[in-house]
Amino acid sequence: MSAEELPSERKEIFERIEQAKDTLGKDLIILAHFYQEDDIVGFADVVGDSLQLARQAARQKDVPYIVFCGVAFMAEMARIICSPGQEVLHPEPLARCPLADMAGIEQAEAAWTELKGLDKDIIPVAYVNSNADLKALCGSNEGTVCTSANAKQVFEYAFSKGDSVFFFPDENLGRNTAHALGIAEHETFPWDPATGIKNTSKNLLKKTKVFLWKGHCYVHTKFLPSDIQEVRNKTQGIKVIVHPECTAEVVALSDFAGSTSIIKHTVETSEPGSKWAIGTEWNFVNRIMMYNPDKFIVPLKRSVCSDMTKIKPRHLLQVLEGLQEGKLHGRVNVEEGIMEDARTALQRMLEIS
Ligand code: SF4
Repeated sequence: MSAEELPSERKEIFERIEQAKDTLGKDLIILAHFYQEDDIVGFADVVGDSLQLARQAARQKDVPYIVFCGVAFMAEMARIICSPGQEVLHPEPLARCPLADMAGIEQAEAAWTELKGLDKDIIPVAYVNSNADLKALCGSNEGTVCTSANAKQVFEYAFSKGDSVFFFPDENLGRNTAHALGIAEHETFPWDPATGIKNTSKNLLKKTKVFLWKGHCYVHTKFLPSDIQEVRNKTQGIKVIVHPECTAEVVALSDFAGSTSIIKHTVETSEPGSKWAIGTEWNFVNRIMMYNPDKFIVPLKRSVCSDMTKIKPRHLLQVLEGLQEGKLHGRVNVEEGIMEDARTALQRMLEIS
């Protein structure tokens, strides 16, 4: 509950959301990311990670209104995938992903121009946590998109088409995926958009298999090797599972690494009595703890995505009641000029995995 909402107001908001949902019936679907707060997840028709929600959005061909409770790039992705006759609505446009905003299109285009000058075939791959114009850059250059759930398959696809991958904007996911494919650290190149390849030897660039844009997620880089040490000292036999947006040092020290859906599946299907420390967003970890009382589960550290949690029930209510009055609050638009190329990149991803 937000600080400014009294319990009576909250109750009223919840009741009005339920009424609006009932009235809109099959004309509406609410998709929510795993990192949303319980107050939002409770109203969602589907809860999932980026890949699951992208697939859901693609399937909802007969639903005119898709309300997307996640950060902006996710709602934008749904807009790209859905048909022009459908409307995608994002209840709080200020809910953006700072990682996605770490790569701007001008910088990315400048980097791509520099890389194309090298004597090798490079495939651009955008992490789904990126804005539509970056996805379009990939779509128009034989590239694609990946999520943390399918990054390995997407990199394998890219290596079947070219010599190297240019991955943006999450350095950690790119590095962890490269390592999972047996690519050594010296075969990766951290791409600083301020310097590009200035003063870099041709030999080094020739050997580089993955160019890694220097962006990061503040929620996942909060986990440190010392957190793992501490939790292991406290609880004998505890297993550590983390998200691949964590640093390579943290992933190397953990027992497992995987996307939110993989983390959920691994913990939920483990033996009763298993002990887990989970290194990902707190709202999601808290829910896994609540729904798996037969296991001992702790957060590796409490790390909240304060951007995901900007969406509150009152925002959802405004969108739903607006629909009943014929208004489109939070309507998501993607520029026509980039729509097709971004869709090409996303469709390639959905075909790969
Ligand atoms: S958890 Fe990290 S990557 Fe995900 S939305 Fe929040 S800031 Fe972006």
